[in-house]
Amino acid sequence: MLITNATVVTWGEPNQVLTDQAIYIDGGKIAAVGTSASLGAQYSDIERIDAKGQMVMPGNICAHTHFYGAYARGMPIPGDAPANFPQILERLWWPLDKALDKDTVRASALVSLVDAVKHGTTTLIDHHASPNFIDGSLDVIAEAVNQSGLRAVLCYEVTDRDGDAKMEAGVSENVRFIQSKRIARIGATFGLHASLTLNDKALKACVDAVPKGHGFHVHVAEHEADEEDSLRRSGRRVVQRFDEFGMWRDKTIAAHCVHIDEAERQMLQAKNTWITHQPRSNMNNAVGAMAFDRMIAQNMRICIGNDGFSNNMWADWKDAYLLHKVVSRDPRKANGGDIIRAGVYNNARLAEQFFEKTRLGEISVGAAADIIFVDYHPFTPLHEGNLPWHILFGFESSMVTTTIVEGQLLMRDRQLLTLNEPEIAREAFALAPKVWERYNANINAL
Ligand SMILES: [Zn+2]
Repeated sequence: MLITNATVVTWGEPNQVLTDQAIYIDGGKIAAVGTSASLGAQYSDIERIDAKGQMVMPGNICAHTHFYGAYARGMPIPGDAPANFPQILERLWWPLDKALDKDTVRASALVSLVDAVKHGTTTLIDHHASPNFIDGSLDVIAEAVNQSGLRAVLCYEVTDRDGDAKMEAGVSENVRFIQSKRIARIGATFGLHASLTLNDKALKACVDAVPKGHGFHVHVAEHEADEEDSLRRSGRRVVQRFDEFGMWRDKTIAAHCVHIDEAERQMLQAKNTWITHQPRSNMNNAVGAMAFDRMIAQNMRICIGNDGFSNNMWADWKDAYLLHKVVSRDPRKANGGDIIRAGVYNNARLAEQFFEKTRLGEISVGAAADIIFVDYHPFTPLHEGNLPWHILFGFESSMVTTTIVEGQLLMRDRQLLTLNEPEIAREAFALAPKVWERYNANINAL
């Protein structure tokens, strides 16, 4: 496949914006990048896609999401509105995840994947929970990812909040999936919920079971309740508690880290842990804001996820850009360049941990052909130096017209090619009343 007439954003280091470019794709990888004239002459007899001057750039990456949350869309929570994050867990997420079965796990994944293709998010790191359908749940999601053509990293969130048997089933599901034979586009890691729903026995079971060379994907200090609980249980804060179990490994992801203190930051920095920031979720749950600038200045590996919000990653980039300014009353915070450092470069390096020998998030020879077209018409000069602000103030996810992963077209000119959106929505919709009914039964049983 040859993409021609592209305004290429390479997201290389340094980034380059190049006009009138062509990209030759072969075997799922970018095989050549050059001018439309030169590559057009060289590859004259292959399928061509005319980008018509659109911005052509690497697909976006989501560092932390939850496909399983899809059925929360528009769902009423009975009684008084939850007043804090622990109540949101108890009255929204835990009764909802228990309401999922095989069909609704599949439907949740498919609707999320449709959304990702449409919004140009080509790699997603998911964190799954369905306590009444644990065994094989990751295979059901993997099948949906396979069908979509997207790239994803999957895990199951271990917790002891539903007893030992389900905790052990969660451990087994992670191990089984990590060791299973998967297509190259699907990676695996080992999921845990959060310190506040993991007793020492559960943590030990996870650390004992994780296959060699793998890390963990866990929520850390999303709300101060997690730190308070950890101090009560262990006399240690969350990061120290997890450290004592040996959880800070090369590939471990710590989601949120809103309430960690300086000693915890230093430990995560020393351990080179990947930290994901989900500003839309943090604002929605009113949990506060991570120390973004301090952590970037400390060279910590901050990435950006969406925590189950729409798979429009520019929305989280934009909200990160705004959130830290308003909470600190300082317009210098969360500089556009730092947002790109986190959401583009760190996300790409994180995702690469799960796909051996695959360069992601870059338009360069040898990198995976995970590419999007953006129909953006700048009316002021656009170049490498000011691109972050064109994106933060000008890009909309509705401008994504074409999505390609591993050289396969998943959407062309806004037409989905691998997933049938009306059918997927219809099937998910048909299952929704039962999910909400089971959710209500679970909440009434509290
Ligand atoms: Zn999360």
